[in-house]
Amino acid sequence: MPTISAARAYLVDVAVETERTDAVQSFIKQETIFVEIETDDGRTGTGYSYTIGTGGRAVLSMLRDHLLPRLSGQEADRIESVWMDLFAHTRSTTTGAITSLALAAVDTALWDLKCQRADEPLWRMAGGFRRDVPLYDTEGGWLHIDTDELVAGAVASKAAGWSGVKVKVGKPRINEDRDRLAAIREAVGPDLDIMVDANQSMTGADAIRRAHAFEDIDLAWLEEPLPADDVSGHVRLARSTSIPIAVGESMYAVQQFREYLERGAASVVQVDVARVGGITPWLKVAHLAEAFNVAVCPHFLMEIHVSLTAAIPNGRYVEHIPQLRAVTRTEMEIVDGRALAPETPGLGIDWDNDAIDNRRVA
Ligand code: MG
Repeated sequence: MPTISAARAYLVDVAVETERTDAVQSFIKQETIFVEIETDDGRTGTGYSYTIGTGGRAVLSMLRDHLLPRLSGQEADRIESVWMDLFAHTRSTTTGAITSLALAAVDTALWDLKCQRADEPLWRMAGGFRRDVPLYDTEGGWLHIDTDELVAGAVASKAAGWSGVKVKVGKPRINEDRDRLAAIREAVGPDLDIMVDANQSMTGADAIRRAHAFEDIDLAWLEEPLPADDVSGHVRLARSTSIPIAVGESMYAVQQFREYLERGAASVVQVDVARVGGITPWLKVAHLAEAFNVAVCPHFLMEIHVSLTAAIPNGRYVEHIPQLRAVTRTEMEIVDGRALAPETPGLGIDWDNDAIDNRRVA
């Protein structure tokens, strides 16, 4: 059995490719935390995690000071065992964002090794349901984009064969949000999914009111209407509207998803492999959602989520936000509006090591 012989972590800043705004924040830069794990059979696994601009150095410290020193000598393919050891060792900071992000960088490196050793791509190793996954575009729907440009982007996405577009909401007046969405629906007709995302910006009463105002636009889902820790608010909202409620990008543990699913507060699960602590817990959330007959449409990170979504039977969508082009040599393959999971052994991300080294900040 291959044993871990060395591990290192470093931080790389990847500039945003375009301005990205929503109701509560801007994407400043992608702080990308890399972990490389070497095993005594001569392999190196590369994992990663990220933030959208703050906290990257805290994740790096967690890795360097507390997690990586525990890896040496552990068996690399006992991923559940390694994960639980690290989790137990950091009890005083779990469940929490920094620790989950750090765990994800280790976990994805171990999965990269596992797939390399089996000479299999991630989508097959993680379940292998089907290789191609429908795609929707978020890159054309940011909050600062005006209505004409939103409409043009949605029309172009439909023409390219994509199945959906996401539009940020949270303008000061309900009518402004409604008019933007109605203009898109009018232009694209009934055959395109329109997802809307409030990024946790609303109060319970406002969300119920806005959902009511959006009812006749035929939305695929209303995403993160309320703060993620307001489970009962999501329960009330879900009972008051026919629009499916999507949550998950701001959750950091499997148990948080259980709570939402058990209480009927989530109709779409958007589990993020970095924020939930890696592929190991991501798959648990995905299978839990399947047991509740709920679709998984993961948040961001299309380069790895394409493989995970392809792996599971309830994976419904990959979110198109290209952000790694500056540090990868090839892009995610898209054919007829569907994303194709890579067939290369490992995570399937074609890292450009020189470009990564040039952007190293810690
Ligand atoms: Mg979102």
